[in-house]
Amino acid sequence: MNAEILAVGTELLLGQIANTNAQYISQRLPEVGVNVYYHGVVGDNPNRIKNALNIALSRSDVVIMTGGLGPTKDDITKETVAEVLNKKLVLDENSLNVMKAFFAKHNRKMTENNLKQAYLPEGSIIIRNKNGTAPGCIIEHGEKIIIMLPGPPSEMRPMFDETVVPYFRNKCNSRLVSRYVKIFGVGESAVEDKIMDLIDNQTNPTIAPYAKPGEVMLRITANCNTLEEADELINPIVNEIKNRLGDAVYSTENKEMEEVVADLLLSKNVTISVAESCTGGLISKTLTDIPGISKVFISGVVSYSNDAKINILGVKPETIEKYGAVSKYTAIEMAENVRKISNTDIGISATGIAGPSGGTEEKPVGLVYIAMATKDGVEYKELRLWGERTRIRNVTCLHVLDMVRRYLLKL
Ligand code: ATP
Ligand code: MG
Repeated sequence: MNAEILAVGTELLLGQIANTNAQYISQRLPEVGVNVYYHGVVGDNPNRIKNALNIALSRSDVVIMTGGLGPTKDDITKETVAEVLNKKLVLDENSLNVMKAFFAKHNRKMTENNLKQAYLPEGSIIIRNKNGTAPGCIIEHGEKIIIMLPGPPSEMRPMFDETVVPYFRNKCNSRLVSRYVKIFGVGESAVEDKIMDLIDNQTNPTIAPYAKPGEVMLRITANCNTLEEADELINPIVNEIKNRLGDAVYSTENKEMEEVVADLLLSKNVTISVAESCTGGLISKTLTDIPGISKVFISGVVSYSNDAKINILGVKPETIEKYGAVSKYTAIEMAENVRKISNTDIGISATGIAGPSGGTEEKPVGLVYIAMATKDGVEYKELRLWGERTRIRNVTCLHVLDMVRRYLLKL
């Protein structure tokens, strides 16, 4: 089966919001055996929605529409789709009751225009919306399937996961299952080189490399009928890749670097503190994005100026005078001192030049020193990064986390 995602919303056309719904749906459809062939965006205009839907229906088995299911006058997706498919909109009592309960629960008054949300094309499978008022629906129309979901991602995503995914799972026998091997510290071409024979020889599963800033991800995709079969096909390949790349593989479960580090810190009960300069709090932010991290994350200091490094962290003025704030010596003192001040098992630091200005011949933009202090001593790394400011900061953060990860693996 092939699908087209048709997002409705003038905001999208004006560039006011990004079409993250299409991205989300596209990422999830292959795993239920549906291939996405087209993405479309159309404004809140009945004629153009009709045209776009007719084109989509002429070339796709499945059309998934998002947006325009709300109560206001400009929300016209359902009405327009019903017209194209020549279906009446009928009141769904259940949806009405659910909606009434929703308004009561949130202590809001239900207005007349909300009523229209309880009208759905006759004969459709209704998709409940636990996080909002507009229900969605699946319409089986001859050979075609048309699905409508609300625009807000917080409503659309759970509805898609809880109803649309199982719907297709029941319908399709074969499906694509992907596993991700995430690699840090080895470049894309070096990774490819190490596993070239695996890539060349595979048809099922297939292996596709992706480069992200600072890291490489391999997607291993099996075409199969059951999850057990997927495991049988994928696991040997994942194990072989792990054998070849060793500790550079940080996740085979599609986890982010910070999740892997947080898991290790928590499971080994190791506390950590952070002293940051060029990353401006990004490392602390990234770690504290993980719920439950408070058991091991003790403190993060953003010591941006030299004075802050000296006064807050106790970096020696001579160190900064002699070697500069961007130096291995400063990084090392930052890590050691934050560890001491915070009384943690690990202290980590980053100091560097994120650019775009501030670089010199001797110390160019992208020069970053990171350090980690532990009971076993201190280690540091000089990084020579490239790209714009955000990239340099993000990649620095990954390097710091990876340093911690590799240390924790050995504990
Ligand atoms: P509502 O009941 O909130 O009006 P709706 O189903 O009518 O929902 P829209 O009015 O089209 O949906 O969009 C509501 C909000 O949902 C938008 O302001 C935007 O924040 C978000 N949204 C809509 N479409 C998309 C999309 N394709 N990707 C990401 N966000 C979207
Ligand atoms: Mg709306």
